[in-house]
This record gives sequence, C-alpha cells and structure tokens, in this order.
Amino acid sequence: MAKSKYTYVRDFEREEQLLPSTWLVVRIDGQGFTGFTSKHKFTKPNDIRALHLMNRAAKVVMENMVEIVLAYGESDEYSFVFSKKAKAYDRRASKLITLLVSKFTAAYVFYWSEFFPDTPLQFPPAFDGRVVAYPSDRIMRDYLCWRQADCHINNMYNTCFWLLVNQGGMSQRDAEKRLNGTLSRDKHELLFSEFGVNYNNEQEIFKKGSVLVREQVPIDVVDKDGNNIQRQKTVVQIRHCDIIGDAFWREHPEILS
Ligand code: ATP
Ligand code: ATP
Ligand code: MG
Ligand code: MG
Ligand code: MG
Ligand code: MG
Ligand code: MG
Repeated sequence: MAKSKYTYVRDFEREEQLLPSTWLVVRIDGQGFTGFTSKHKFTKPNDIRALHLMNRAAKVVMENMVEIVLAYGESDEYSFVFSKKAKAYDRRASKLITLLVSKFTAAYVFYWSEFFPDTPLQFPPAFDGRVVAYPSDRIMRDYLCWRQADCHINNMYNTCFWLLVNQGGMSQRDAEKRLNGTLSRDKHELLFSEFGVNYNNEQEIFKKGSVLVREQVPIDVVDKDGNNIQRQKTVVQIRHCDIIGDAFWREHPEILS
C-alpha cells in the first residue's frame, strides 16, 4: 500500500504472538444460548439436530485450517487444538480467534436450514472465542479431559433435570432442589428407579460429546489407464469416544507427534 502521512497510526497496533512450540487451543462458545435454544425450541436436554449442526460447522473450520489436529465439541461450545508446530498467521492471537469464530459462525448459519428445515432462524447467533497456549502434552490432554468431564457431568444433571420436569411433572425450581447435593450414583439411581432409564444406554454423542480427527480412509479412484485403484485420503471424521484414557491417544499417535 502507498504510504501517506497517516501511515504512522499503524505504530500503535500491538499483536499478541503466542509462544512457539506450545499447543494452541481456541475455544468458542455460543453467546446466550440458554435463550437461543428456547427461542428456537430445542428439545431438552439434548437437541440432536443442534449437535449435528455444531459438528458440521466445526468440520468446515477444520477443513479450512489444516494445522488443527483435533476438535472437541459439547453443548454450545467447541475447542480446536492446533499442532505445537502450527505457523498459521504467525500464531497471532487475534487473527486466529477472529477468523475461527467468524468462519464457525458463518458455517453455523449457512447450514442451519439443512438441520432445522422447519425452524427459521429468528436472529443471528454469535459465538465468543479465546485462545490459550499449553506448554506440554499432558496439560493439553488435561484440558480435553476437563471439557469431556464437563460434558459428562452436565449431561447427567440435565438428563435427570428434564425427566423430572417433563415426565415427573415437577417445576424447574423443584427439580433443581431435588438434584441439589446429589452425587453421580444418586443420579444413576434416580434415573433407574423413577424413570427406568439406564444412563449407560444413553447415546454416546450426549455422554461423550464429539471428537473430530483426521484419519486416512481408502477411496476408489480411476487411474489414467482406466483401472480402478484404491488411494488413501485424509478426511475429518467424527467420533463420540473417550479421550480421557490412553486408548484414543494410542490409536491416533500422529496427533502428539
Ligand atoms: P487478506 O485475507 O489478507 O485480507 P484480501 O484479499 O481480503 O486478503 P484485502 O487487502 O483485505 O486483501 O483486500 C480486499 C480485496 O477485496 C481487494 O482486492 C478489494 O478490491 C476487494 N473488495 C473489497 N470490497 C469490494 C467491493 N465492494 N467491490 C469490489 N471489490 C471489493
Ligand atoms: P454464555 O453467553 O455465557 O455462554 P449461555 O446461555 O450460552 O451463556 P452456556 O453455559 O454456554 O450459557 O450454556 C449453553 C446453554 O445452551 C445451556 O442451557 C444448554 O443446555 C443449551 N444447549 C446447548 N446445546 C444444546 C442442545 N444441543 N440441545 C439443547 N440445549 C442446548
Ligand atoms: Mg481489507
Ligand atoms: Mg460463554
Ligand atoms: Mg454459551
Ligand atoms: Mg457453553
Ligand atoms: Mg481482507
């Protein structure tokens, strides 16, 4: 760009560059989704259409930013983990957060009608975002454990809460009081004895959230001589698996490499 006498104002700009060789995690979260979900009549506790829409939007982000090695989503939030070696946008915090949040939000709106064909969007949703640099593999993994444990705890609570309200005929206040101070085993017991629900049989996507990873899959292609051959292609896959234990990390050694 040509210089003008005004160019000096650029000297006031400051950029936060995130530490090199650290895991970068951007977490986004729906703004005021308690209201957004009631306005759009989400089924409680888990509207499966909305979870699939979140996953679709996250897939767009992951396909757009190749240095994201894993993403984890639950409720109205998603965490995107960039490789320690990531170089995107010189690891500038504001670029990473804003581009990721705007791409995610745009994709959420873009695909809305595919997942909610009978529910027009009432107003434009928004997501906030933050980025944190984690210095070791262990801490990055503990971050993901924290989010998956949060998913589990909230889902168990919400499953009880909405059964008490919708099937037990309780007011929301009474349901809250009833659950106050209960432990995990009390909730298991409540679900089973009062509603005949075995929590272990609930859908994995509700209990575990969603994990997006890149995996190699064989695809059929036709080579230049017209023969059918198989090639490996990297695609973003959605899993609803445990990421707290070691098994997942053993199955995906490339993530930590
Ligand atoms: P970056 O991602 O680095 O911002 P960019 O291609 O967006 O890359 P900009 O310097 O932001 O680069 O330039 C914006 C481009 O979009 C220019 O080429 C500009 O001419 C074009 N553009 C923006 N608005 C309009 C418009 N209303 N009509 C025609 N062209 C436009
Ligand atoms: P904030 O702007 O502070 O994030 P919030 O209202 O979005 O406010 P959260 O803690 O993010 O607060 O809670 C998200 C809300 O959205 C919860 O009430 C949760 O139950 C609801 N929600 C998110 N996803 C779904 C879904 N798939 N089905 C039903 N409800 C959902
Ligand atoms: Mg511009
Ligand atoms: Mg929030
Ligand atoms: Mg929220
Ligand atoms: Mg949230
Ligand atoms: Mg531009």
